[in-house]
Amino acid sequence: MFSTHDVQNQTPPLEDVDGFALDTALIEGVRREGAAASIDELHRYGRLLTQPDMLALGFAANAHPPVFDSHDRTGHRIDVVEYHPSYHQLMALAVKEGLHASPWQSPGPGMHVTRAAKYYLHCQLEAGHGCPITMTFAAAPVLKRFKPDWHQKLMSRQYDGANRPWQQKPGLTLGMGMTEKQGGSDVRANETRALPLGDGSYELVGHKWFLSAPMSDGFLMLAQTPAGLSCFLVPRWWQGQKNAIEVQRLKDKLGNRSNASSEVELKGACGWLLGEEGKGVQTIIEMVSLTRFDCMLGSSGGQRQALLQAVHHARHRQAFGKRLVEQPVMAAVLADLQLEVEGSLAMSLRMARALDNASHPYEQLLLRLGTAAGKYWICKRTPQHAYEAMECLGGNGVMESFITARLYREAPINAIWEGSGNIQALDVLRALQKASECLDAWQRELDGAFGEHPLLAMAWRQLQHLLKADPLSQARRITELLALTLQGALLAKGAPGPVADAFIRSRLGEGGHSFGTLAGGTDVELLLRRAYGE
Ligand SMILES: Cc1cc2nc3c(=O)[nH]c(=O)nc-3n(C[C@H](O)[C@H](O)[C@H](O)COP(=O)(O)OP(=O)(O)OC[C@H]3O[C@@H](n4cnc5c(N)ncnc54)[C@H](O)[C@@H]3O)c2cc1C
Repeated sequence: MFSTHDVQNQTPPLEDVDGFALDTALIEGVRREGAAASIDELHRYGRLLTQPDMLALGFAANAHPPVFDSHDRTGHRIDVVEYHPSYHQLMALAVKEGLHASPWQSPGPGMHVTRAAKYYLHCQLEAGHGCPITMTFAAAPVLKRFKPDWHQKLMSRQYDGANRPWQQKPGLTLGMGMTEKQGGSDVRANETRALPLGDGSYELVGHKWFLSAPMSDGFLMLAQTPAGLSCFLVPRWWQGQKNAIEVQRLKDKLGNRSNASSEVELKGACGWLLGEEGKGVQTIIEMVSLTRFDCMLGSSGGQRQALLQAVHHARHRQAFGKRLVEQPVMAAVLADLQLEVEGSLAMSLRMARALDNASHPYEQLLLRLGTAAGKYWICKRTPQHAYEAMECLGGNGVMESFITARLYREAPINAIWEGSGNIQALDVLRALQKASECLDAWQRELDGAFGEHPLLAMAWRQLQHLLKADPLSQARRITELLALTLQGALLAKGAPGPVADAFIRSRLGEGGHSFGTLAGGTDVELLLRRAYGE
């Protein structure tokens, strides 16, 4: 027998820990934004999500992507997408924990913040199935207004992934169909037509170029009527029969691979009008802004998991006689990655509190601007963040057996769907044009932080100058300044002084362009302790 070598200096898996307890910024944020009552629940969930069998579900769901079958063995059209059992288990867990509905089921102080914290922890396990969970969560307010029988079933904590009519199911999930071949951002270009059937229902003829989670029980879809673009609920089953939604094929995607995204043709698919004819965008917009909110959360969670893996590795791996975390260049990279998470999380949780208090006009204004600016900035920062974290693991980080590879493939998705970057930047300008009070609300949120942080005040002045000069060509810069000033101010008010100071100096002052180029004097050790719950 030859003994070639002992396996040494490899990092043990990060499992069977309390993911909530390890996340100092999350614990502080949850308390700060009004959900202290959920701390015990979040510890429970943080422990559950890091159990080895849970982690295995995330890997299995991605190793076995969904498979589409158009016909049964005797040639009948079935349009069935088969998911791996692990995908259904992840869905069942998310629904049981109320990630699709909890703040609507029991509205109350801190409910959105609690759900946001749970979603942020949950999506670190696996992001793909978050797509239908988010769409279901986001569709709930629209359905409550226009289709209460569906809304009631949406509130169930029982996931039912079976292929059968919605009436027979205890709980439902929802998808959405807006994007067509000729236009996704510009939904006014939608060509799908809806014809009234005379009994209050409509028949849709056309196609959708992207329809994710095609096994959902129903889809909010846009289609043209004589009065203009209108919003419909199109169930997958209609009067006991498969509805006329034909899947052409599944998309072969870079990320979000555990979840199916399809191209469909609507060959007289039946549905119900939601809201008024011609007011489709107004009807679906609430759903869209909630999905954008979840993109912020999902990307913040992705950043957190990537950073956690990187810190965990650097605490174990030795190179050149020291643990990586003790090597100053590596410590600076990790600290910078942690700073990014601090900013992303603070902004996401602040928006969750705005949702909790959405009846208050000030919070509405904040949410209006914050959803667009946050979706833009947090999602856009994530691919670079995921890549840097992956590099911290060296070659292992690129392997599909490490979650860092998957996090990297997931990273661009949230930035592109639900309104790509430019669309968010334009939405920021639209919000400011329609309600200039949005900017006043933003400033009020920043007030109190200016005195101690002159860089924040400078950035605010620069923002106002850009708004006056040439907003359209500066839309991205305006949007990023909005996000950075809010993130900086939230940290200035809620995080330890050195964290806020490092964030503001590196993001609005003397920091470099890639991660790991923090300003001198940064309290790197503090940031590293916060990254690992110490
Ligand atoms: C994995 C995945 C799943 C998806 N699932 C769904 C789904 O379930 N349902 C659904 O309806 N859609 C879905 N989409 C589609 C997604 O929402 C669209 O791809 C996205 O909105 C962009 O639309 P588009 O692809 O048509 O690109 P376009 O609209 O052609 O945009 C292309 C680029 O041009 C930019 N752009 C557009 N207009 C302007 C402008 N005025 N000024 C400057 N720049 C502009 C955009 O920001 C973008 O960068 C999914 C996409 C992905 C990647």
